[in-house]
Amino acid sequence: MKIKTLKPSYMDEFSCIADSCEDTCCGGWGIQVDKKTFKEYNKLKKKSKKDKDFFTNNIIKNNHSKNQFDFGVIRLDVNGNCAFLNNDRLCSIVLEYGADALCETCKKFPRQFSYYKSSNIQEVSLSSACPEATRKIIGNNKKISFNVSEENKFNLLSYVQNNDSSSLDLYAFEIRMTIIKILQSELYLLKEKIQLVGLLCNKLIKEKNIHFVPQLLIDFESVLQTKINIPRESLNSKFSFDLMQLIISTKRSTNIKFNSYIKDVSEIIGINEDEFNKMKIELKDIDDKVNDIYKFSLENYLVNYVYKNNFPMKNNDLVYNYYLFVIHFSLIKLMLMAQFKKNGGISKDTLVGVIYSVGRALEHDSKYFISIISEMKIQNLYSIQHAMLIN
Ligand code: SF4
Repeated sequence: MKIKTLKPSYMDEFSCIADSCEDTCCGGWGIQVDKKTFKEYNKLKKKSKKDKDFFTNNIIKNNHSKNQFDFGVIRLDVNGNCAFLNNDRLCSIVLEYGADALCETCKKFPRQFSYYKSSNIQEVSLSSACPEATRKIIGNNKKISFNVSEENKFNLLSYVQNNDSSSLDLYAFEIRMTIIKILQSELYLLKEKIQLVGLLCNKLIKEKNIHFVPQLLIDFESVLQTKINIPRESLNSKFSFDLMQLIISTKRSTNIKFNSYIKDVSEIIGINEDEFNKMKIELKDIDDKVNDIYKFSLENYLVNYVYKNNFPMKNNDLVYNYYLFVIHFSLIKLMLMAQFKKNGGISKDTLVGVIYSVGRALEHDSKYFISIISEMKIQNLYSIQHAMLIN
């Protein structure tokens, strides 16, 4: 059966660059093995001693498995890389048994497949945790567009299903499209667009009848016809500095690139509050500067974030999701500021490196955000209005 399928324009341009890749998909992440593949590997182990040695000890059963997707885990070596990565940085499972033998996690990375039951639409996107995917997402001086086609239903186990008919997910498609229109508007600076998204989130939170959401979106889109002044309280510089310190001190990642960018942030702009404020004035609107040079790059990053992550509906927590959206972007901006100061400019490679290292380090690290968000809550700074001030 064919169903409506939504794909971003970059999708067909992507293919894995394998041993030419500056990173590997298998570094620093716990790789979960689904139950079906785990059993296939067990069957292969019985074929010969060589097969048995290949899999034994490198894949272990997950005693804390919660579902069929995390039935087993692949062992990581001392460097945090997948045990099946060979010296040429190629996957030995693919070399020995072919790409079909990969578990679902590896088969689909960096692609994400989603299905929206209420609108009966399936979607595919790319994760910015892959450097080559990031190059395609940020694009080559063109905005992301979306294509609709009729395709067979994706046949994948790990399919993100978004289908809560009693929540905002009912209008997930429409809400995301309005946010994407805001982000792609030519009327506003990037930071203003992020604030507009915050204003929309606030309105969605206040709307108690979800069936009024389509009209709310139509009304809100009037800001795209005539530019409005966005109410902006002045940001307490202490709050801004403290948040930056919190972001850079919340170290959890084993990703070398991410940690080296964070080190640059702390050494170059995180020394003291005066230095930080000076830098903020000097490199004001670094995001717009970068976006002007690499046309639409950061805008495309944000558009992809919204599209891929079902933003802001995920788990029905709009405040949390908006905070995450802003923190991801603030971190990227901080890293770009430090790189600009260090090198006198931003090369395309640095831009890709910064964006993908943030995706790589934080995409699967909810604990990183939990500690930051907890601190915001303790300090009574946990609201859309506060998050709007960060950017
Ligand atoms: S990170 Fe991306 S380009 Fe690199 S090996 Fe993995 S899928 Fe291929």
